[in-house]
Amino acid sequence: MFDTLTDRLGGILDRLTRRGALTEADVSEAMREVRRALLEADVALEVVRSFVDRVKERAVGVEVVKSVTPGQMVVKIVHDELVAMLGADAQPISLAAAAPVPILMVGLQGSGKTTSTAKIARRLSTRDKRKVLMASLDTRRPAAMEQLATLGRQTEVATLPIVPGQTALQIARRAMEAGRLGGYDVVLLDTAGRTTLDEALMAEVVEVKKATNPHEVLLVADALTGQDAVTTARAFDQAVGVTGIVLTRVDGDGRGGAALSMRAVTGKPIKLVGVGERFDAVEDFDPARIANRILG
Ligand code: GDP
Repeated sequence: MFDTLTDRLGGILDRLTRRGALTEADVSEAMREVRRALLEADVALEVVRSFVDRVKERAVGVEVVKSVTPGQMVVKIVHDELVAMLGADAQPISLAAAAPVPILMVGLQGSGKTTSTAKIARRLSTRDKRKVLMASLDTRRPAAMEQLATLGRQTEVATLPIVPGQTALQIARRAMEAGRLGGYDVVLLDTAGRTTLDEALMAEVVEVKKATNPHEVLLVADALTGQDAVTTARAFDQAVGVTGIVLTRVDGDGRGGAALSMRAVTGKPIKLVGVGERFDAVEDFDPARIANRILG
């Protein structure tokens, strides 16, 4: 097995600096390891560069206190900067708007969008005691509509009845109307996905957004797709303005790099992470845990 980043930093620094302040040379050598570890974790190059610069700036000249080794000192600085970059404060999904609060779920096909919609719906209804309605706007894939209906039955969350032949816009309007008439607190709109970004998909999402004025636009992205997930997030943000990210398959991303790139490049808060296929496999985003994962 490879040494963890923590071990590697300790090995280098404890060999170099005995006591006193961390020198430029100590820190530079340590930063080579940080850089390598982040690149191995599939963090975008631009993010790695700016991160390393930030840590360097903070670390050079820092007095090594007696109770810790220089390695531990730098690991602490790296950890703190990772947490700061990931977004130190947890940002839950906001429901601070007039009911029914529309939430638009966007993302590519296969990213885990429908599963995440059901996970969020279940959380809001079971934990937060909200009355939730889900609607699938995926008019091209009847199977996706059926999937949401099935998930609705399993999670005991209402889904909008399927009416064949309606456009995404018509379904979205019907969902909001049903939300109002039915006294729902939240309406989750699961938009259609595509395997690649295309103009027709974006045009449809923009149209639905205009008609429903969502309080949150949540981009669902697969952590395992790394750099592609970041490109997708950018494209959706430019088209519809993303308010938060749901990062899925974090259970399979042992290195935790996707979260860092995603947050740093888009500037959008990661609100939730998917950690498995079951509908209870969803967690609040925890920057410290991801930082620890990167440090190993
Ligand atoms: P959609 O096409 O974006 O709506 O994707 P789906 O919601 O249908 O999910 C695609 C596949 O990914 C399904 O098999 C899900 O069970 C699986 N999936 C979704 N989220 C997660 C997650 O957080 N972890 C894991 N391991 N699998 C997930």
